[in-house]
Amino acid sequence: MRRRASIPQCDPGASYRAHRAEIDGAVARVLESGWYILGAEVEAFEREFAAYAGVRHAIGVASGTDALEIALRVCGVKAGDVVLTVSHTAVATVAAIGRCGAVPFLLDVEAGRQTLDAGRLASVLAGRGVPAELRRRFRAVVPVHLYGQPADMPAIMELARQHGLAVVEDCAQAHGAALDGRCVGAWGSAGAFSFYPTKNLGAFGDGGLIVTDDAQLAERVRLLRQYGWRERYISRVVGVNSRLDEVQAAVLRVKLSHLNRENEVRQALAAEYAQELSSTSLLLPHATAGARHAYHQYVVRTPARDALQAYLERRGVGTAIHYPVPVHRQPAYRGRVALGDSLATTEQLAAQILSLPFYAQLGSEAVATVAGHIRDWEERGRPAA
Ligand SMILES: *Cc1c(COP(=O)(O)O)cnc(C)c1O
Repeated sequence: MRRRASIPQCDPGASYRAHRAEIDGAVARVLESGWYILGAEVEAFEREFAAYAGVRHAIGVASGTDALEIALRVCGVKAGDVVLTVSHTAVATVAAIGRCGAVPFLLDVEAGRQTLDAGRLASVLAGRGVPAELRRRFRAVVPVHLYGQPADMPAIMELARQHGLAVVEDCAQAHGAALDGRCVGAWGSAGAFSFYPTKNLGAFGDGGLIVTDDAQLAERVRLLRQYGWRERYISRVVGVNSRLDEVQAAVLRVKLSHLNRENEVRQALAAEYAQELSSTSLLLPHATAGARHAYHQYVVRTPARDALQAYLERRGVGTAIHYPVPVHRQPAYRGRVALGDSLATTEQLAAQILSLPFYAQLGSEAVATVAGHIRDWEERGRPAA
């Protein structure tokens, strides 16, 4: 068994302990109410989240994966369509496309932002190296704001407009991130959020949410998430069961009220890592111009990644790799997705990235300790462990 790291990579329990009294009160309120699925707490949370993100509509669903799938479906994605996204992402992005019966077309990312490369997207949409039969089926683009860094939305939106494609933003790692003053999720046709416990805004279980400014899309999401019902027991369309429950919504309302403050703490911790690691050879993350980075993860790059990870683990520092195998290399997807001409940056990232300990309650002392170990490792000529 692995020794429990004395500085864990993430600690969802820390966010409970930080807001214990408020959260306990919210949970008790729901338990006492006798109403547990899609009620007053969900409605209030949807209103509060829409206001937070600067959009007209927010609709809670059961997970981030469901949010992506339902958003794609209400944007018209159906069996046989092709949806363009990245391979350097959580597998959920690609799984959601598959659940619509669509074919994922995976593109490379920019080395700097590590998000969808708009230049590659432009070239594929122009048809370079893509069979016409496939090109005709392009329906939507899913940019992923990975690690909390906004993708190049102005360029992606312009390309989507030119080619008549829907844009569903994968905001699962980017609650509160913004570009040019506009929140992620408010750029595309719709945005999908996850409330998996480790996310910047995390529930105590599964949860997700779709944002959109389009009243018709919002109405279709509301139908689809509960059996196609407008009034109870009468299905207008064939829907699914993908509901947010009242306990999670009540908890999320508490945590949403602290999100901006916690994202500021994340930005400050990222600045501390950057300062402490500036003398090392590691490539460090930084927000691109005009971006408010949500720093879901703090991901460094080094060709000696495996050795550094082993060294840190021996010293009680937990790390993770988000993600070790690009989606197009995974057994379930190998040979079953369409690919852009080269995914060289994606492949290189998978070999070099390392997520250091990172969460809002981590603390400056832990950052200094982790950075100190990394500097020692470099000064000693990068011993293997
Ligand atoms: C977490 C995550 C998802 C899926 O969210 P779930 O709530 O776990 O279904 C989708 N995309 C990205 C990039 C994620 O990080």
